Amino acid sequence: MTENGHLTDAVQHILLDLRQMKSFAARPLIIEKAQGIYLTDIDGKRYIDGISGIFVVNIGHGNQHVIEAIRKQQEKVSFVAPLHAVSDTAIRYVTRLGEITPAGLQTIKLLSGGSEATETAMKFARQYFRQAGKPSKYKFIGLYKGYHGATMGAMSATGLGGPRKSVFGPFLEGYVHIAPPACFTCAYGLSYPNCDLLCARMLDYTIQQQGAESVAGFIIEPISNTGGISTPPPEYHPLIRDICTKHNVLLIYDEIITGMGRTGRWFASQTFGVTPDLLCCGKGLSSGYAPLAAVAIRDDLYFSTFWGEDSANIHFAHGHTYGANPIAAAAGLAVIDVVEREGLIAHGQRIGDHIRARVSKEVAALGILGEVRGKGCLVGVEFVADMARKQHFPLERQFGKRVERRLLDAGIILRCDPNWIAFAPPLITTIPQADEMVDIFVRCVGDELQAGGA
Ligand code: PMP
Repeated sequence: MTENGHLTDAVQHILLDLRQMKSFAARPLIIEKAQGIYLTDIDGKRYIDGISGIFVVNIGHGNQHVIEAIRKQQEKVSFVAPLHAVSDTAIRYVTRLGEITPAGLQTIKLLSGGSEATETAMKFARQYFRQAGKPSKYKFIGLYKGYHGATMGAMSATGLGGPRKSVFGPFLEGYVHIAPPACFTCAYGLSYPNCDLLCARMLDYTIQQQGAESVAGFIIEPISNTGGISTPPPEYHPLIRDICTKHNVLLIYDEIITGMGRTGRWFASQTFGVTPDLLCCGKGLSSGYAPLAAVAIRDDLYFSTFWGEDSANIHFAHGHTYGANPIAAAAGLAVIDVVEREGLIAHGQRIGDHIRARVSKEVAALGILGEVRGKGCLVGVEFVADMARKQHFPLERQFGKRVERRLLDAGIILRCDPNWIAFAPPLITTIPQADEMVDIFVRCVGDELQAGGA
């Protein structure tokens, strides 16, 4: 048997994420190498990585500056236990990261994955209130359709319906969800701006009904991915900021997707002009060159409540073995360099604007455009069967998932849902490359439309 045949056979021994491995094993996608925006499988077929892995590889694959930084770090020290010590590189990294996080959030806990970051933020919030003399504040409010990670606390905060969550219940007590700012599918059946932002005002109502003295935090993705790149109207974030402040509820931004230049600024917090109390980031921090995540914490929360004598026993009682890993920190430092030196945030904004402009026109011309959403280089396209009535295709049609199969055959990977598809290509994507993505996308959407009838 050939080497590739052995690999294909052995796929059944690995469990990938959120998918039936039987069908994957029948037609596996085994990537051997990657460069720039392109991935190559073991048969030599090329794919455009139109979703940066999964909102991760913001600076593109195979960046020599990052590879060299990691190699140099490996030669110095690869592991320092965060229980005993810290590497010089990790200190340099938190200083550098603190230069790009919003003002006042320069206290940083380094971690290795997004779920660790959201868990850390929620544990920090609970310990903070205990030590700040408000131990009854322990609940968290999240959004329906929001996603915050795969571990039990993060899943409790996650507001997804269906088997992705339900098979793991029961969840932690004290997690409440409210409707998201998803105007296209408004849970209240209202239209912006006549709605007067009811979805934001429901946060105020929910905190009051739960009892402000029991609520520790509101956790939210500034733009929700699993909600379909749901992009709130401009008043939403300032409003929820005010409501959280009024009730002494910590605002936790889950910027694991929206951070690191993805939405036109370093963080979506800056894009929307609102500073959270805790900011979780991951994915793009290292651009996938090493597992890396972080929580940026409001300095005064930390120094007023956790900083003191050993005997006071008020240190943050939480940690992970791979936190502040020197290799990951070296990768993170090099990624910030690349984004800054190459002007990738402004460039990514141009690429995102270009994709939004083209798909708005061309999917509308196919007669199935619901809405185009997103900020910076994060684009969501919602499909409808009937544009006038804003009616989706029947769910059993699995329109977007069928388009996904065609996209894969045509050599492009995007994030596909039955009703919407997201683009989030590396920020290094050129206009001709973006055009190639959109050309293939529009062709595949059109072909699926013809094949299935609307
Ligand atoms: N929050 C958001 C918004 C995410 O998209 C993800 C990952 N898809 C996570 C948290 C969890 O991150 P990880 O998979 O790195 O644990």
